[in-house]
Amino acid sequence: MANPLDKIKPQVRGLKAYTLRPDRGAVKLNQNENPWGAPEAVRRETLRRLEGRAWSRYPDFVPASLHERLARFAGWRADGVVAGNGSNELIQATLMVTVGEGKRVLISEPTFALYRQVATVLGGEVLSIPLDHELDFDVSALREAIERERPDVTILCSPNNPTGCQIKEDALEELLNVTSGIVVIDEAYFEFSGRTVAPLLERHANLAVFRTFSKAMALAGLRVGYLLAAPELAREVSKAVLPYNLNLFSQTAAEVAVELYDAELRPTVERIVAERERLYKELQNIEGLAPVRSHANFMVVHSSIEPRRVYDELLERFGVLIRDVSGYPMLKNYFRVSVGTPEENDRLLEGLRDIFDGKGTKNL
Ligand code: PMP
Repeated sequence: MANPLDKIKPQVRGLKAYTLRPDRGAVKLNQNENPWGAPEAVRRETLRRLEGRAWSRYPDFVPASLHERLARFAGWRADGVVAGNGSNELIQATLMVTVGEGKRVLISEPTFALYRQVATVLGGEVLSIPLDHELDFDVSALREAIERERPDVTILCSPNNPTGCQIKEDALEELLNVTSGIVVIDEAYFEFSGRTVAPLLERHANLAVFRTFSKAMALAGLRVGYLLAAPELAREVSKAVLPYNLNLFSQTAAEVAVELYDAELRPTVERIVAERERLYKELQNIEGLAPVRSHANFMVVHSSIEPRRVYDELLERFGVLIRDVSGYPMLKNYFRVSVGTPEENDRLLEGLRDIFDGKGTKNL
């Protein structure tokens, strides 16, 4: 009998699926979410606006009112905004309209695994430049790769998941100027960095910026992301986005979150940034650990104990769930922690001190 799997593209058969271990812990520091949750005011106002809206009717074909609010929030134009079902959808849509057999996608690794995954599924060739020894972007290597390989698309995550490094505006501009391709900057974590490359959109029609409501905006469960680009480019990407991709509920909540950002969400971002700096200092004081400076709401930590064991012990003995990133290129001896509330971070530190003082690792 014919094997139906023979019909799957060979490059897809060769991939490992992007998955997450289903473990649960009382202290959840594995997915870089906002630990404070969606503010009560955002939830209440969303539900109020939803009253009287017909569930039997389609949502807006183009969520224009959300696009307008996002444009104002980002300092960009509404016809250059595309909202999506999570920024993942927009990553996929952008690659769908650019990548196929014979196309090249340049990335810098370690980074968010989805870029390689989607580009490969679509038949593209992925070119990867490692981060430098300090886990920072190697701009001159990226520039050389662009000049040599002429990638159709370059994707950089800034701040980068999982390392937290950030591309400087002048370095990015250098890359934008030498490439004939499209450059995507994934700014999923920009709120924690205090910087954005969005002002460069004005001068660079080949730049696309992705953002999400899943991190600082505290709406990961509702799946909203957005893209900022020149209107001509945004229009092309829209062609690969499904109609009514954004449901009524999520669209409404996203509008409320943007409206209430300064009053309700920005203070949580500031608290997270302060906690990130505290966590960084405290981790430096634990022998066997070396945290890496980050511009996001997480950081990777070099560990003298195998990351898998740290993960298991933290979860089993302290109920703390972290991310084992030791399978990523360059990160064999690292784990990643998201920044939680002060109490959650204290619990993490307590667990790590115990484990690295030798008490918890006697039998390992
Ligand atoms: N980009 C990066 C860098 C991420 O880390 C994530 C989530 N882990 C996403 C995009 C996906 O975000 P969303 O929930 O908006 O699909």
